[in-house]
Amino acid sequence: MNIEQLVHDVEDVYLKLDEEIATFKKRSGLGCKSGCGKCCLKPDIEATALEFIPFAYQLYKQGKAIAWLENPLLGNSLCAILDSNMSGVGHCTAYQYRGMICRLFGFSAKLNKYGHKELITCRVIKTEQPETFIAAYAETVAGANVPLMRDYYMKMYAIDWELSQKFYPINDAIKKAIETVLHYYAYREEEGLAAAE
Ligand code: SF4
Repeated sequence: MNIEQLVHDVEDVYLKLDEEIATFKKRSGLGCKSGCGKCCLKPDIEATALEFIPFAYQLYKQGKAIAWLENPLLGNSLCAILDSNMSGVGHCTAYQYRGMICRLFGFSAKLNKYGHKELITCRVIKTEQPETFIAAYAETVAGANVPLMRDYYMKMYAIDWELSQKFYPINDAIKKAIETVLHYYAYREEEGLAAAE
């Protein structure tokens, strides 16, 4: 495992996903309500450790990884990256490094038992943009291009099976990602590999 390569590969998946979501939003007219952030307030969000490797790597590069492991917010059920007092477009304090579940939620589809795509979105969008939602839902069932959750999790499995096959409560996933990055560099330092770079 090479952490820099993992970060590169995960960010590559995020780039493609964000592009596909932007195309879908433009075509469907669906979008988040400005300043909403309600989806981040769900207490039972689950994620994989791999999704937060870019976040953990940034913390490491900024010398904040160890301090973050002692962050009491990691013990809560709400995402520790969330700041619900933050004003502006949302409440994520590390939006650029948010997880894949954060990107997929609201603008992606799953396959139902008949193998048809079903649009997954939030109650705010459904209730405040009902016509637009119904139209997007219908075109999704009809097979229109919408990011498929399964496809993106498969891309993550292909990057690193071990860090992507188990789902944890989001703060545990963040913690595992930080621990993975710290262990990697601690091992490299121990082995004198860091100096060789
Ligand atoms: S990482 Fe950011 S977008 Fe994802 S749940 Fe936490 S606050 Fe929300």
